[in-house]
Amino acid sequence: MSDKRVLIWYRNDLRVHDHEPLHLAVKAQAEIIPVYCFDPRQFGKTSFGFPKTGAFRAQFLIESITDLRQSLQQLGSDLIVRSDFPETVISELVKQFKIDAVYYYREVTSEELAVEAALEQALKPLGVALKSCWGATLYDLDDLPFPISRIPEVFTQFRKKVEKNGTIYASFTTPKRLPSLPKVDIGELPTLQVLGLETPRFDERAVLKFQGGETAGITRLKNYIWEEDCLKDYKETRNGMLGGNYSSKFSPWLAMGCLSPRFIYDQVQDYEEHRVKNDSTYWLVFELLWRDYFRFICLKHGNQIFRLSGLQGVPIPWKKDWERFERWQTGTTGFPLVDANMRELAATGFMSNRGRQNVASFLTKNLGINWKMGAEWFESVLIDYDVCSNWGNWNYTAGVGNDARGFRYFNIPKQAKDYDPNGDYVKHWLPELVALPASKVHEPWTLLPVEQKRFGVQLGVNYPHPVVDLMKSVQSNQKIYEAALNKAKHPLR
Ligand SMILES: Cc1cc2nc3c(=O)[nH]c(=O)nc-3n(C[C@H](O)[C@H](O)[C@H](O)COP(=O)(O)OP(=O)(O)OC[C@H]3O[C@@H](n4cnc5c(N)ncnc54)[C@H](O)[C@@H]3O)c2cc1C
Repeated sequence: MSDKRVLIWYRNDLRVHDHEPLHLAVKAQAEIIPVYCFDPRQFGKTSFGFPKTGAFRAQFLIESITDLRQSLQQLGSDLIVRSDFPETVISELVKQFKIDAVYYYREVTSEELAVEAALEQALKPLGVALKSCWGATLYDLDDLPFPISRIPEVFTQFRKKVEKNGTIYASFTTPKRLPSLPKVDIGELPTLQVLGLETPRFDERAVLKFQGGETAGITRLKNYIWEEDCLKDYKETRNGMLGGNYSSKFSPWLAMGCLSPRFIYDQVQDYEEHRVKNDSTYWLVFELLWRDYFRFICLKHGNQIFRLSGLQGVPIPWKKDWERFERWQTGTTGFPLVDANMRELAATGFMSNRGRQNVASFLTKNLGINWKMGAEWFESVLIDYDVCSNWGNWNYTAGVGNDARGFRYFNIPKQAKDYDPNGDYVKHWLPELVALPASKVHEPWTLLPVEQKRFGVQLGVNYPHPVVDLMKSVQSNQKIYEAALNKAKHPLR
């Protein structure tokens, strides 16, 4: 029997383009009831006590839901919004509207799976069908050239295999019209205040003014790829840290599903056909594959990604040093590259990939601090937080994930000189260092008293002394790491 009334449960798929549940419901000629729930569990605290969804992401989410509602209204439908557990809201709506089926995109990590399980339980007595789709990735789960249990542990092997033997499905078409909703209270969106958060102040130094929603996501895509013509240089610029266009900045829209990766892929194909095809156009798709990879790895390994010993099961005795952690969090470690990035994150909710790798390496390889504290801080503050990409990358950088190369660390001053040779980036975020010449700006601890006076930098007064000795700290953490690696449960080498 076909589904006559279908409830679409929106989650991290806040769009109408390339949307399989919507497409299937339209195909079934069903009456369609789109619903979004602000789940109170997402607005609690992380295990280390940070707000689980910080103000930048919460604001982006509210904007995304507002935009989704408008898009659905333009198509003749609407979006029901509730602030409660999805399992409660949906089972009530199912009863109220005699729904035949609930369609949604499935997720892969524990909290999201727990909600799916609770929903299934709540709907069981109501005899309503649940249909889950796979989405969020470029490659469909069904189209991988291996079963999920056999997905290669190392990214390069995964990439080579999917590039050789996988195909990327075409995007689903956007519906032209949707049936109207039955008479219902569509509900109001909560404000940030109701969610227990303050409205974040926009910092003029931010890389972009991120605006949530599919409409703004598509605008950004058009701007970056077509109007500004940045894609042709992506590979050369992607390691930058300053400005709107060194990288695509698609991540916040991808994380909430305002942009589908296949839509981006289609645009890249178009660009290759009509403008230029080169290493850069390939590289954007290459980076999207990292995103796919972490999602598939999470599906394969379940909760292992959240364990302190990580995917490799390395029992490192991490420190829980709050004092030093707070210096990292607040950008007062005395290492300008780390401090500038951490202050950018706190002020804007965004940090470049180069910055993320450096600050995560510093926390784990120099300070030896529990990587989960860092991952949770990122979870709280990042505007583009994606559970698989965040926890996957933290596993990787902490040396407990899928990297067979053993103890790898970022040499902070060297990275600073390579990626910020004139110190423009650090000066952008650390005004106290603005008068320093490029030769000194990444190593203020080398300033003589007379130089401190000349450049207005007083170590220990207006800029901190280094929190650790860079090389000694790396050496001692390497010893600890290597001893632990011998005891790893699932070593890659
Ligand atoms: C410790 C750490 C934590 C991270 N946490 C997140 C996170 O929560 N959410 C998130 O989206 N990315 C995360 N990343 C990956 C990466 O830093 C961001 O995706 C990227 O900086 C976003 O900027 P962009 O969209 O301009 O990237 P671009 O360089 O323009 O890349 C295009 C897209 O490719 C994907 N991508 C690029 N690099 C990676 C990567 N290393 N892993 C997974 N996907 C990637 C993203 O979807 C990105 O939007 C993390 C990286 C590190 C090192």
